[in-house]
Amino acid sequence: MIKKINHIGIAVNSIDEALGLYTDVFGLELEGIEIVEEQKVKTAFLPIDNTEFELLESTDKDGPVAKFIEKRGQGIQHIALEVDDIEKAIEEMKAKGIRMIDEKPRYGAGGAKIAFLHPKSTHGVLIELCQKD
Ligand code: ZN
Repeated sequence: MIKKINHIGIAVNSIDEALGLYTDVFGLELEGIEIVEEQKVKTAFLPIDNTEFELLESTDKDGPVAKFIEKRGQGIQHIALEVDDIEKAIEEMKAKGIRMIDEKPRYGAGGAKIAFLHPKSTHGVLIELCQKD
Protein backbone atom coordinates (compact mmCIF):
# COMPACT_ATOMS: atom_id res chain seq x y z
CA MET A 1 0.00 0.00 0.00
CA ILE A 2 2.83 2.41 0.87
CA LYS A 3 5.09 3.07 -2.11
CA LYS A 4 7.89 5.20 -0.74
CA ILE A 5 8.81 8.19 1.39
CA ASN A 6 7.44 10.97 -0.78
CA HIS A 7 8.99 13.79 1.23
CA ILE A 8 10.32 14.88 4.61
CA GLY A 9 8.72 18.05 5.99
CA ILE A 10 11.05 20.37 7.89
CA ALA A 11 9.74 23.34 9.87
CA VAL A 12 11.90 26.46 9.54
CA ASN A 13 11.60 30.03 10.79
CA SER A 14 12.43 31.37 7.34
CA ILE A 15 12.73 29.61 3.99
CA ASP A 16 14.97 32.44 2.75
CA GLU A 17 17.39 31.80 5.60
CA ALA A 18 17.25 27.98 5.46
CA LEU A 19 17.44 27.56 1.69
CA GLY A 20 21.20 28.12 1.40
CA LEU A 21 21.93 24.96 3.37
CA TYR A 22 20.02 22.83 0.87
CA THR A 23 21.13 24.60 -2.31
CA ASP A 24 24.63 25.99 -1.66
CA VAL A 25 25.87 23.42 0.85
CA PHE A 26 24.04 20.25 -0.23
CA GLY A 27 23.85 21.25 -3.90
CA LEU A 28 20.15 20.46 -4.31
CA GLU A 29 17.89 22.33 -6.67
CA LEU A 30 14.89 24.32 -5.59
CA GLU A 31 11.93 22.90 -7.49
CA GLY A 32 9.49 25.58 -6.46
CA ILE A 33 7.90 27.63 -3.72
CA GLU A 34 4.19 27.48 -3.05
CA ILE A 35 1.84 28.96 -0.48
CA VAL A 36 -0.79 26.55 0.83
CA GLU A 37 -3.40 28.90 2.29
CA GLU A 38 -5.42 26.17 3.95
CA GLN A 39 -2.45 25.16 6.09
CA LYS A 40 -1.11 28.70 6.55
CA VAL A 41 2.23 27.65 5.23
CA LYS A 42 4.79 28.52 2.58
CA THR A 43 6.55 25.45 1.19
CA ALA A 44 9.77 24.96 -0.75
CA PHE A 45 10.46 21.61 -2.44
CA LEU A 46 13.96 20.30 -3.03
CA PRO A 47 14.07 16.90 -4.76
CA ILE A 48 16.74 14.41 -3.81
CA ASP A 49 16.81 11.11 -5.70
CA ASN A 50 13.24 9.79 -5.62
CA THR A 51 12.14 11.82 -2.61
CA GLU A 52 12.12 15.46 -1.55
CA PHE A 53 12.73 17.83 1.30
CA GLU A 54 9.76 20.08 1.98
CA LEU A 55 10.70 23.21 3.90
CA LEU A 56 7.76 24.69 5.77
CA GLU A 57 7.51 28.31 6.88
CA SER A 58 4.38 29.51 8.64
CA THR A 59 2.49 32.39 7.05
CA ASP A 60 0.48 32.95 10.23
CA LYS A 61 1.46 32.96 13.90
CA ASP A 62 -1.48 30.65 14.66
CA GLY A 63 -0.71 28.18 11.88
CA PRO A 64 0.22 24.55 12.63
CA VAL A 65 3.88 25.06 11.67
CA ALA A 66 4.19 28.17 13.89
CA LYS A 67 2.74 26.17 16.77
CA PHE A 68 5.09 23.28 16.09
CA ILE A 69 8.15 25.58 16.20
CA GLU A 70 6.86 27.28 19.34
CA LYS A 71 6.62 23.91 21.11
CA ARG A 72 9.53 21.98 19.68
CA GLY A 73 11.74 24.38 17.78
CA GLN A 74 12.78 24.12 14.14
CA GLY A 75 13.32 20.63 12.78
CA ILE A 76 11.70 17.61 11.18
CA GLN A 77 7.96 18.17 11.35
CA HIS A 78 6.52 15.28 9.38
CA ILE A 79 7.30 12.35 7.10
CA ALA A 80 5.08 11.81 4.08
CA LEU A 81 4.33 8.32 2.78
CA GLU A 82 3.09 8.01 -0.77
CA VAL A 83 0.07 5.81 -1.45
CA ASP A 84 -1.88 4.97 -4.62
CA ASP A 85 -5.33 5.38 -3.17
CA ILE A 86 -5.55 7.69 -0.19
CA GLU A 87 -9.23 7.05 0.63
CA LYS A 88 -8.50 3.34 0.83
CA ALA A 89 -5.33 3.95 2.87
CA ILE A 90 -7.26 6.08 5.40
CA GLU A 91 -9.87 3.34 5.79
CA GLU A 92 -7.16 0.74 6.25
CA MET A 93 -5.38 2.84 8.89
CA LYS A 94 -8.63 3.30 10.79
CA ALA A 95 -9.43 -0.40 10.54
CA LYS A 96 -6.01 -1.08 12.09
CA GLY A 97 -6.78 1.19 15.02
CA ILE A 98 -4.88 4.30 13.94
CA ARG A 99 -6.35 7.64 14.92
CA MET A 100 -6.46 10.03 11.95
CA ILE A 101 -6.20 13.83 12.19
CA ASP A 102 -7.82 13.92 8.75
CA GLU A 103 -10.59 11.42 8.21
CA LYS A 104 -10.96 12.76 4.69
CA PRO A 105 -8.15 13.83 2.36
CA ARG A 106 -7.46 17.51 1.87
CA TYR A 107 -5.28 19.26 -0.66
CA GLY A 108 -1.64 20.05 0.01
CA ALA A 109 1.19 21.55 -2.04
CA GLY A 110 1.23 20.64 -5.73
CA GLY A 111 -2.44 19.61 -5.56
CA ALA A 112 -1.57 16.33 -3.79
CA LYS A 113 -4.27 14.70 -1.69
CA ILE A 114 -3.01 14.46 1.89
CA ALA A 115 -4.15 13.19 5.29
CA PHE A 116 -2.30 13.19 8.60
CA LEU A 117 -2.16 10.39 11.13
CA HIS A 118 -2.35 11.44 14.77
CA PRO A 119 1.12 11.36 16.44
CA LYS A 120 -0.49 9.70 19.48
CA SER A 121 -1.02 6.65 17.24
CA THR A 122 2.49 6.72 15.75
CA HIS A 123 4.87 6.99 18.71
CA GLY A 124 5.23 10.74 18.28
CA VAL A 125 5.94 10.96 14.54
CA LEU A 126 3.59 13.09 12.47
CA ILE A 127 2.95 10.99 9.39
CA GLU A 128 1.30 12.30 6.26
CA LEU A 129 -0.27 10.06 3.67
CA CYS A 130 -0.10 11.59 0.23
CA GLN A 131 -1.37 10.70 -3.19
CA LYS A 132 -0.01 12.47 -6.23
CA ASP A 133 -2.09 12.28 -9.37
ZN1 ZN B 1 4.16 17.29 3.58
